Amino acid sequence: MTLQAFLSRRTVTPEGILPRAILVEGGRIRAVVPLDQVPPTAIVHDYADAAILPGLVDSHVHINDPGRAHWEGFHTATRAAAAGGYTSLIDMPLNCLPATTTVAGLEMKRDAARGQCRVDWGAWGGVISDNQGDIEALADAGVLGFKCFLIDAGIEGFSMVSEQELRRALPHVARTGLPLLVHAELAGPVEAATAALGSADWRSYATYLKSRPDEAELSAIRLLISLCREFGFRLHIVHLASSEALAELRAARAEGLPVSVETCPHYLHLEAETIPDGATLCKCAPPIRSRENREKLWQGLKDGVIDLIVTDHSPCPPEMKRLEEGNFRTAWGGISSLSVALPLVWTDAQRRGFTLSDIARWMAEAPARLAGLEGRKGRIAAGYDADMVVFDPETEFVVTEMNLYYRHHVSPYLNEKLRGVVEATYVRGQLVFANGEFPGENSGREVCRHDSPR
Ligand SMILES: [Zn+2]
Repeated sequence: MTLQAFLSRRTVTPEGILPRAILVEGGRIRAVVPLDQVPPTAIVHDYADAAILPGLVDSHVHINDPGRAHWEGFHTATRAAAAGGYTSLIDMPLNCLPATTTVAGLEMKRDAARGQCRVDWGAWGGVISDNQGDIEALADAGVLGFKCFLIDAGIEGFSMVSEQELRRALPHVARTGLPLLVHAELAGPVEAATAALGSADWRSYATYLKSRPDEAELSAIRLLISLCREFGFRLHIVHLASSEALAELRAARAEGLPVSVETCPHYLHLEAETIPDGATLCKCAPPIRSRENREKLWQGLKDGVIDLIVTDHSPCPPEMKRLEEGNFRTAWGGISSLSVALPLVWTDAQRRGFTLSDIARWMAEAPARLAGLEGRKGRIAAGYDADMVVFDPETEFVVTEMNLYYRHHVSPYLNEKLRGVVEATYVRGQLVFANGEFPGENSGREVCRHDSPR
């Protein structure tokens, strides 16, 4: 087997940011050693002052394949991922057709992925109103966990769950030991707020923001915490947008409940105050809230109440964003950012005093742990897959369509100046992206909970 050595004066390891060589053999990291201890037989890749981080893991991506590959697809999503420094994507069970709510649906997804993937991928299974009987079979078939909605998901094929339906599902979920990822907004407060808006102007961002109040998130999270206490399942709150829920999430964890929390680049970067009317590129649910709220989310990351940052990459054909009419009521909600999320988060994080170690924890290690991939993905350490991103953290660039790579080049970040450039991405020791090119074959494979332990 060939021995490769990847050298950097800023290798981001669990012990800190150190001058280290990463020795790779057979797709795995064999050892991480000081720069003067590289065996003479090794093929050396010297990245000098560029940092090497663990390949990023995005546990919240909508690949939309099979069935809606014209929205995105395995081929385009995993290329965008490689260009963005991501080496593993975990696909959400909705927006594809069929949704991943049965074992047959999972098998169709595997067929769609075959030969198409630049990076590794895994599947979340769906919990919907009537598939309680499929949950344990999906776990046996290899999903990494489950996802459900407490409010209408806004797409056919994936029904929301009521509290009653969720109560029927939870004993099954708990038995699998896998996490349940929940879109935490309750319909009641959203319906009441929307009704109270009367004939408000839906081109105004303020109207959209009022229609999805903090209370919708807060009441959902309260319900979920109490169900977590009652049923003992692993609860994960997806895309937390409201900082008002942080205190109760902190208390739940202090109580010892198995609760984890994510937020997304758009909630950490954008702010309601500066979203222009009609700017439906910024529509997502829950909505982007105030500047003050955004700063509290950063504080939540600092305090460790928020564990991870994921993209919620959720593409659609550009016409569904209804950019001409700019109507926040009818436009598709979802923001795509796979290929620019790392510089986007880094630009804001370094300004607030965070380091590349924080980035590695939020965007690689913690999402890998959520998906049960600890020990295999998310760290630069012996025994782990040799998934790496070479990142120049100082160089600035302006985002253009050239940087997007996913199928439809739609983004609220075009023309923004960001800091940090992905120079190269390696999956299991193989170069999959370098300086705008995609060398070699599509060698991404499914990561499954049944893969042999190390
Ligand atoms: Zn999502």
